[in-house]
Amino acid sequence: MQDELLTELGKSLLSGSLDDERLMERTGAPLPVQILPEANVIKIGGQSFIDRGRAAVFPLIEEIAENLGRHKMIIGTGAGTRARHAYSVGIDLGLPTGVLSVLGTFVSMQNARMLNYLLAKYGIPFIEPAQFAQLPHYLAERGAVIFFGMPPYTFWHQNPTMGRIPPHRTDTGSYLVSEVFGTKAMIYVKDERGLYTADPKKEKGARFIPKITISELEELDLKDVVVERSVLEMMKHAVHRRSIQVINGLERGLLTRALEGEHVGTIITAD
Ligand code: ADP
Ligand code: MG
Repeated sequence: MQDELLTELGKSLLSGSLDDERLMERTGAPLPVQILPEANVIKIGGQSFIDRGRAAVFPLIEEIAENLGRHKMIIGTGAGTRARHAYSVGIDLGLPTGVLSVLGTFVSMQNARMLNYLLAKYGIPFIEPAQFAQLPHYLAERGAVIFFGMPPYTFWHQNPTMGRIPPHRTDTGSYLVSEVFGTKAMIYVKDERGLYTADPKKEKGARFIPKITISELEELDLKDVVVERSVLEMMKHAVHRRSIQVINGLERGLLTRALEGEHVGTIITAD
């Protein structure tokens, strides 16, 4: 290739080592574009939300419908209790993490399909990873899409540091969609107000934390948290998605307010 057609970085990348730290640092500029800055990623919990059935899901579906035309929504689904059961059978049968990841993917797809049929009358499509190229079109035309929250690593899923459960699940898959498309917000819809000092279902005295940084959170060294820990890890290196909000979807109106940019749950930030 002719030298004059290459950028300075191009010349260095062609001849340099991809292990060279100084060279890798130069690949950080310019900042990546925000592909869908008007869209919001909303992750709807599996165990915490969809598994509760119509009492939880129907009012949220209504609220999502009310926001069509006002907010663009990329809706990811959790897997939940059925995935935990599938994992336990899979582990018993000696299946590796990559196969457990396949199982989890299909359970989160079941949840996405169910929401898809409930939102079908509004013209909201369910999309698989291969259809993400059409995402801008669906958002422009219909204002929302539903996808399964599991990152589609399947067999290529990395092993956890301990045990066998896939470490990157639906909180993480949804998070990564928000990061890569540079969306306006990442909202987790669960069944608690947000993050507490302990799981409020197990510890009555747990205190609510409205806002916290990743480093403060690490300092607290909580036994359990409200989002997958890998999300917190990924936030440290995020370019766009440096804050997330966890809200209680059981309280009518909070999703709408979160979409309006209000602080109604726990906001976790990287800085
Ligand atoms: P999802 O359904 O999205 O997968 P999870 O059930 O994995 O959500 O996580 C949400 C749950 O995490 C909440 O229902 C809550 O009971 C639990 N939880 C554990 N630790 C905490 C904490 N420190 N603060 C708030 N909730 C917590
Ligand atoms: Mg979970």
